[in-house]
Amino acid sequence: MKHYELPELGYDYAALEPHLSARILELHHGKHHKAYVDGANLTLDKLAEARGTGELSGIVGLEKSLAFNLSGHVLHTMFWTNLSPDGGDKPDGELAAAIDEHFGSFTAFRDQLSLATTTVQGSGWGALTWEPLGGRLITEQVYDHQANSSQGGTPLLVIDAWEHAYYLQYENRRADYVKAIWNVVNWRDVSARFELARNLVGTAR
Ligand code: MN
Repeated sequence: MKHYELPELGYDYAALEPHLSARILELHHGKHHKAYVDGANLTLDKLAEARGTGELSGIVGLEKSLAFNLSGHVLHTMFWTNLSPDGGDKPDGELAAAIDEHFGSFTAFRDQLSLATTTVQGSGWGALTWEPLGGRLITEQVYDHQANSSQGGTPLLVIDAWEHAYYLQYENRRADYVKAIWNVVNWRDVSARFELARNLVGTAR
């Protein structure tokens, strides 16, 4: 069966400097993200083994482990493509119009997602998400990698708020890290995700 793999980054570890240091990216991608990939694969192996022996008493723990590690893999994979050395500024086109419609203005949206990301208690993420049932953009404050999210939504832009994402460079100043992230947001990627998510709208109704 096909297992999950750590994706290559589309840029060098130093490419997002000075906003994100090369050492942070090296550890974050090569160690932290890799641990989620390995954790998801190991959990799938354990589930297969449990099915084989009929011994499923550990199913609760295995499902928790799968949700945590797989969500970690999904979010980090998205995070790397949400960022680009050529990023920054703000979106245009239909994504810009939708942000204006659902948040009032780009600045209001940016302030809301910045605050959601900065105020995560413990470890988690801030996310801009397409909510298909209502057909709207929302922000979400995700705990760990998988808690506190609405069902059925598609994250379009995610910002890692775990300490491993910024502490080496920004120490306890998470708000400064979040402010710097906006300089490297790849709006082309976010817009492409928005386009795909909106075309799936019918599946949620
Ligand atoms: Mn992370």
